[in-house]
Amino acid sequence: MNQIKPNSLAARDIAYHLHGYTNAVRQEQEGSLILTEGKGIYVHDENGKAYIEGMAGLWCASLGFGEERLVDAAIRQMRKLPYYHTFSQKTSSVTVELAEKLIGIAPVPMSKVYFASSGSEANDTVVKMVWYYNNALGRTKKKKIISRQKGYHGVTVASASLTGLPNNHRDFDLPIANILHTDCPHYYRYGQEGESEAQFAQRMADSLEKLILAEGPDTIAAFIAEPVMGAGGVIVPPAGYFDLIQPILRKYDILFIADEVICGFGRTGNMFGSQTFKMKPDIVTVAKALSSAYLPISAVMINEKVYSVLRDNSGKIGVFGHGYTYSGNPVCAAVALETLKIYEERNIVDQVRRIAPTFQREMRRFADHPLVGEVRGVGLIGAIELVKNKQTRESFAPQQGIAAQTSKFCQELGLITRGMADGMAFCPPLIITEAEIEEMFRRFSKGLDATWAWVR
Ligand code: PLP
Repeated sequence: MNQIKPNSLAARDIAYHLHGYTNAVRQEQEGSLILTEGKGIYVHDENGKAYIEGMAGLWCASLGFGEERLVDAAIRQMRKLPYYHTFSQKTSSVTVELAEKLIGIAPVPMSKVYFASSGSEANDTVVKMVWYYNNALGRTKKKKIISRQKGYHGVTVASASLTGLPNNHRDFDLPIANILHTDCPHYYRYGQEGESEAQFAQRMADSLEKLILAEGPDTIAAFIAEPVMGAGGVIVPPAGYFDLIQPILRKYDILFIADEVICGFGRTGNMFGSQTFKMKPDIVTVAKALSSAYLPISAVMINEKVYSVLRDNSGKIGVFGHGYTYSGNPVCAAVALETLKIYEERNIVDQVRRIAPTFQREMRRFADHPLVGEVRGVGLIGAIELVKNKQTRESFAPQQGIAAQTSKFCQELGLITRGMADGMAFCPPLIITEAEIEEMFRRFSKGLDATWAWVR
């Protein structure tokens, strides 16, 4: 990628395209990888080189690349009704079908589905719903939403505020008011000397309660959590964490929001991460694997407790004054509906359960590598955390860019993976086979050894 030919796609990309989550100076110097095709778990670049997509894109292309049934579903719906909206008592038939389907498979009893186009929009919608809900109940002080350090909930103004990562706030004048962040429940990183996992989980719950009491429970509206934190580093909660958190939320009448944008639809070995971790949320957001990422669609599911208040208030003031042009877009809905059908027919949850032991075993083989501090994961998601010192758990200095360098070596070897802080993340398409898992980690092993040679 160092030799950028004039007028090449890479050169035109530099000339015209501002990328998200990219160092633009480095992009101008090095160019970007330009993908042109995909099939199964592989994507191909403009020169025909194949890469295993170890991240399913951005944790999303669950059925891999080239699922013809999704293509056909989109074309059929494009021909029939390419667009309709959901404002002022209108909708398209396929959007109704999708809403019904989602309520049918929700991890806990849910009442209604609200559609949007991205995870960020879904979580932004939730923030507004929570405020609207409490205003409708006359609890005008109960507005603060607690998220977690290293939580990831998106990049729009409210959802980026919920996100607990410094780069999403820095120089953007975020977070906005009324968003608080409690501790990140990462036992390996934040567990104290001699503290058991159970004691750590208890300390996390105590700290949340302390924050609620310090702020005043009548000011705290909601708590949002990913079942497994994704972009924060694939952090699996300590055993018992959500069992301890939930009674606290109930005690202070605080709504519980599960951000299932990554965990939803089989990733953790159940249809939803909420089932894996025994979470009983009032509100659930989903996106990504809802359509296997073939078209942009997200959804907010709300229970009857929340819906009944929104309904009554919209009746009282005349409208629920929120809605996107593309909410419930019929082509996106048709692709999502077909995706859910495929999950059902191929029994995707069983498929993940069958394949996950191989994935976890192959990943955990790296635990002994001198660069590896922790290997963690559940189902078909995991991370390998790179450390400077295995004994003391000391991290590399951020400017060393250890994860970026490892990703680079892996990319040369035909594997796409990404560093989340210093954790190399793996979240392959759910259709990956055992042989492909072995090949993915064979490539990673070579990339990690190259990194080891590079740091020494
Ligand atoms: N929530 C979680 C857990 C995510 O991982 C993401 C994206 O990675 C989002 C929300 C934001 O979704 P989007 O990028 O579609 O706005």
